[in-house]
Parts: sequence; structure tokens; C-alpha cells
Amino acid sequence: MSLNHRQLAWCSRMAQNTRRQPNPHRLIVQTTSERRQSVGWISTLQVSALIISSAYGAMGIAQDLPTRRAVPGGVEIIQLGKHTTTAPTVSSGSIPVLVTRTADQWVAILGIPLSTPPGPASVQVDDATTHRTISYQITTKAYPTQALTVSPKHVDLSADDLARYEREHIEMESALATFSSTAPRRFRLASPAPGTRSHSFGSRRTFNGQPRNPHTGMDITAPVGEPVRAAADGVVILTGDYFFNGNTVIVDHGQGFLTLYCHLQDTSVTTGDAVQSNQLVGHAGATGRATGPHLHFSVMLNQAWVDPALFLNKTTTRTNAHRHRMSR
Ligand SMILES: [Zn+2]
Repeated sequence: MSLNHRQLAWCSRMAQNTRRQPNPHRLIVQTTSERRQSVGWISTLQVSALIISSAYGAMGIAQDLPTRRAVPGGVEIIQLGKHTTTAPTVSSGSIPVLVTRTADQWVAILGIPLSTPPGPASVQVDDATTHRTISYQITTKAYPTQALTVSPKHVDLSADDLARYEREHIEMESALATFSSTAPRRFRLASPAPGTRSHSFGSRRTFNGQPRNPHTGMDITAPVGEPVRAAADGVVILTGDYFFNGNTVIVDHGQGFLTLYCHLQDTSVTTGDAVQSNQLVGHAGATGRATGPHLHFSVMLNQAWVDPALFLNKTTTRTNAHRHRMSR
């Protein structure tokens, strides 16, 4: 874990809050001034890392928030300060960012687009009286490349298919820009299907030798007809049959936190339906640009596709073993 000034500042505040009470981590919750007098066998970095670990545990959030990974396609968690009556408003450029409440902090859960170059970045934070900029650092992540072979009609589009794709693209982008006011209750997601998860999110891809956009989701092995279930409570904001995605369901979990389920054989919900975690949304298939039956599962924050693995509890994953059978 890399540390920056903002996180260290937050750690100091947490330390001051917790040191009033007996704490088994007494050594690691000392204030900055105490730390200067600390014994020499433990470095400041080690102390800080331990404080972060202790603080997250004390806040009871480690099980719920997504895994923080400030890379392209990853998630940054930005501490915004102690609770005020009204949540601060956070934006990345012109795009609103999810803000949630932990035990004693407001935090922003920020998706970092795959196309963002590594380096310094920032968000804008507004509350009732102040406007401020909070900086964060995006580190490098190397994604693999994949060469896939699909039906030629999904690579060299006919005029009709191109027109269809352009219509669908507008409809899809409109749905993906949804930012409802309701805050998600949880960030850890249920697995939408029980199969083996690929680890191909972010892969740079060629289809029939032609470069295309990187892979924006996780492929999960699933035979035709396998039940596909909502990863969390939410509202269905789009269903339909799309040229590339095939039969698709998008669920809004609140404040730009969306999940998408593609290549379905059929859908079991319609736009406007409220769904609960683990509720059936459709069945797996191979519709759209897929080389075989599987579920393509994507997660979006502030209009950025982010790695679903950061939201799912760990299970067996594999790298590219299924790349010839699963694609989108
Ligand atoms: Zn996929």
C-alpha cells in the first residue's frame, strides 16, 4: 500500500480519536508527537501502515468497502473528513462521484477510468461553506493483451449493423450516466454466477487481428441457462438486446454504482424493477459478440469501468485460460 500526505493526516486524526480508550494496539495509535519519541525499532512507515490497518478495523468498514487500488481501472477511497449534517459533494471533472458515510468519516469511492494515465490526479470537494481540491496518485498497472477470434460480422460491421450499434451506443451511454441520489448500502458484491472467474479485466484486445477497446469486465464461466443473479440490491435501469453485448441487464445500486450483465440467453427483469441481491435477472448465454457461453459482468463507478474483482470476495480465478471461449 502506498501512503500519501492525505492518508497520513487522516491516520493522525484516527489516532487522536482512538487513544482516549484502552486499546490493544496502543503502540500503533500514538499521535505524531508521541511517534517522534517512539522507540527506534519500528519505522514511521510501519507505524502508519499499522495505524491504517487498525483504523479500518475500528471503523468496521474493511469488510464492506471495495478493495482500494489506485490504478487505471481501479478504485481510490478518499477521506473527506468527519461527519457533517450534509454529505460533501465530490466530482471528478464534471462527473459526480459516490460519497458514503463510514463510522466517523465521509468518504468518496472513486472509479479510475482504464484510459487515465498514471500520475497525480484530483477531485473537487464542495460542502456548505468550502470548495477544495483533494489530490491522489494513480500508479501504473500493466494489463495483458488478448488475441480473440469472433464472427467477422462483429469486427467488420455492415452499414446496417453500424447504424444499429450507433443507436444502441447512445442509449447505453445515457443509461450508464445515471446518478441516482440513493446511496448504496453495501459495496461488497455477491457473485452473479458460480463459475470460474477470468482475470482479464483491462486486457488490451484484438478481434480477428484488429485492435479494439480493452476488456471492461470479468468473464465468468457459465453454461447456457445458468441462472444469473443481481450482485446487490438495486433498480434495473436498462434491459435489451444489443449488437455487441447481446441480451443485457444494467442494475443501478445508487450514486453511479452500476453493475452490468451481458450475453444473456434471456432476461428475467424489465426496466424499473427493484431487485434484491441474489435475485434472478436472467440466464447465461452467448448472445452478441461472444465466442461461447459465459457471463460478462461489469462494475461501474462515476462512469468508469472498474475491476469487479475489487468488489467480490476472493475465489478461484484464472488468467486467460478461457480466452478462446469467452470474449466481449
Ligand atoms: Zn467479457
